[in-house]
Amino acid sequence: MPIRHLPEDLINRIAAGEVVERPASVVKELVENAIDAGATRIVVTTAGGGRSLIRVEDDGAGMDRDDLVLSVERHATSKLEDDGLDDIRTLGFRGEALASIGAVAHLIVSSRTADATTGLRIEVDRSRKSGVVPQAMNRGTIVEVRDLFAGVPARLKFLKSDRAEAAAVADVVKRLAMANPDVHFVLDGSDRSPTNWPGDGDLAARVMQVMGADFAENAVPLQTSRHGVVVTGLAGLPTYSRANSLSQFYFVNGRSVRDKVLLGAVRAAYADFVFRDRFPAIALFLSVDPAAVDVNVHPAKAELRFRDGGGVRSAVIRAIIDALGEAGYRASSTVADDVISAFRVPEMADAAPSPIPSRGYQTMPREFVAAIGGLAEPSARYEAFEPPPEEATYPLGTARAQMFENFIVAQNGDALVLVDQHAAHERLVYEKFKSQLASGPVASQMQLIPVVIELPEEDCSRLEDAAPTLERLGLYLERFGPRAVAVRETPALLGQSDIDGLVKDIADGLAEWDSSEALGDRLDAIIARMACHGSVRSGRVLRVDEMNALLREMERTPHSGQCIHGRPTYVELKKADLERMFGRTR
Ligand code: ADP
Ligand code: MG
Repeated sequence: MPIRHLPEDLINRIAAGEVVERPASVVKELVENAIDAGATRIVVTTAGGGRSLIRVEDDGAGMDRDDLVLSVERHATSKLEDDGLDDIRTLGFRGEALASIGAVAHLIVSSRTADATTGLRIEVDRSRKSGVVPQAMNRGTIVEVRDLFAGVPARLKFLKSDRAEAAAVADVVKRLAMANPDVHFVLDGSDRSPTNWPGDGDLAARVMQVMGADFAENAVPLQTSRHGVVVTGLAGLPTYSRANSLSQFYFVNGRSVRDKVLLGAVRAAYADFVFRDRFPAIALFLSVDPAAVDVNVHPAKAELRFRDGGGVRSAVIRAIIDALGEAGYRASSTVADDVISAFRVPEMADAAPSPIPSRGYQTMPREFVAAIGGLAEPSARYEAFEPPPEEATYPLGTARAQMFENFIVAQNGDALVLVDQHAAHERLVYEKFKSQLASGPVASQMQLIPVVIELPEEDCSRLEDAAPTLERLGLYLERFGPRAVAVRETPALLGQSDIDGLVKDIADGLAEWDSSEALGDRLDAIIARMACHGSVRSGRVLRVDEMNALLREMERTPHSGQCIHGRPTYVELKKADLERMFGRTR
């Protein structure tokens, strides 16, 4: 076949394949246009998951007749003054969104500028353009997209259910709304119950509207500037992590983006506190010099490229780690909510105020009964102490009792604090390891007689290879025949721990990480395994001064609100919560 130039219509359909992937991408382009036009109020309406109708109305600058005609042409934009691409301050600049949408749907654009006496309308139905006709309307622009992909069965096939497409639309609007807190957003139409976010310009208020008050309560503010990057936003506490990434919001210069550098930085910053398959909630806003970032690497502009990715990464990691460190021992407040709901009041067979009939017990939640049963068993040790006078001055309070040989019961001024001693101690040991490691090899203690541990040959070889790294962590071992290693020194931090279990655990880790990353990058993971072994196991009885020492150390140690697996180390029940549980407050 000879080479030929493609007709305009076909070019637009090809472009549409990249820009207009699904209804949500149409919404994104249209709302971005409204924001670029200076709108203060944007109303998004969809029906049929956006397939039958998408309508975006704004009160922005509008277009006159000439602009209206050009707006639906390919590569026609008002947003690039000179012909450079390195100083882009608008969301759009490629001039292909409206042309692409017009190629795969029925597009109706109506617009009116401030000084026009009437509005004007143009229609494009699968690339066939109509003439311009008058249209009564207020200042601004209304774009309607009907029957999206009606003539493109290949595209229709890949769309999900109406509900899923509508959810994707809402997600796009959320991201745009977060980036533009001064714009009033309305999301409406038969796809959902209406959402109305007034734009008073307060970012914190907008984050609350979009991500929920829950998030705001369980997040710490970010505010740093380094490597020419200004980082602001809110970072969720590790215990508030989610099972997917929908609660992660990334913005660069007001543009919502999906970027590997940022994703990687957030993952790294939370690596110590959140399980790998969990996602911290975060709203991250970056400001960088527009010339330091290329936003033209993706047709829908969802991805970008930083000139100094390393600098951005370290700025983001620093910002998050500092903010979480300042939050210190704070654990998520939703944990207490979970606890309270676990302590549900048993349902009575009848609501008579007479003495509770004994069969009432049978209707109690199983956990409740188990807890009561446990109290009677000898393994549940209970000790009460006289409250020392200065109890209110410590955030985690003063120890009052130890339950089930693992939970410390403490009281501060107005709350009951329950601490998981094993989880808490694990975190303390882990943090000590890290701070010791920061200033050289970790201190070790000599074994009187080397401990010989038998292991499969591959494990012995892996341990042997890892020996220099393990020595930095205070674990000195050497090969002892084909299927054994001899341990001469162990990390002093671990005290008298189960050396056999520790070494086997590390060997398991080495096998799992085999050949993936350099061992140096795995130090944290090895330390985590060591810390787990060196911690006060549940089942150990602590004296009251030991308990208080643990509480005071938690208050001093960063990140002590979560164990190294991201679980909370303590929960707090406010006196008011207790009163609520017992129905004392009305
Ligand atoms: P781009 O946004 O990349 O310039 P589009 O195809 O999205 O390309 O839009 C083309 C042009 O149409 C824009 O540059 C702008 O001048 C005009 N336009 C589009 N939508 C609006 C709107 N809602 N209000 C005012 N002008 C608009
Ligand atoms: Mg645009």
